[in-house]
Amino acid sequence: MVENNKRDPDQVERMLAEMRREQLQRQAGYREQALKLFPHVCGRCTREFEGKGLRELTVHHKDHNHDNNPPDGSNWELLCLYCHDHEHTRAVQEGRVGETGGTIQKPTLSHSPFAGLNDRFNGTKK
Ligand SMILES: [Zn+2]
Ligand SMILES: [Zn+2]
Repeated sequence: MVENNKRDPDQVERMLAEMRREQLQRQAGYREQALKLFPHVCGRCTREFEGKGLRELTVHHKDHNHDNNPPDGSNWELLCLYCHDHEHTRAVQEGRVGETGGTIQKPTLSHSPFAGLNDRFNGTKK
């Protein structure tokens, strides 16, 4: 006897929660592996991590595909939270530019004094 015709929103919630939990478990799995494979050093700022600080060291996927987890670690890079964040911000910006086609070389204007100004103008002009 199967009564799966009615979609119980609670059930959907539970399924989503389950999927999220599985994903977290998967992440925990490759993180542990990566921590065994690599020295506990951020690949960008070369900061060293140990003990409690190790929580700030995260696994970055070089090809940005979290399902690509070769056991030899060739797709992984250990990055601290800050460098990891930076890496993704950059990737998103590059991705947007690249959408028009090909690789457009754009100087990284992370320190542009006008970038913030522009944002503010756009924000207040409503
Ligand atoms: Zn770092
Ligand atoms: Zn990443």
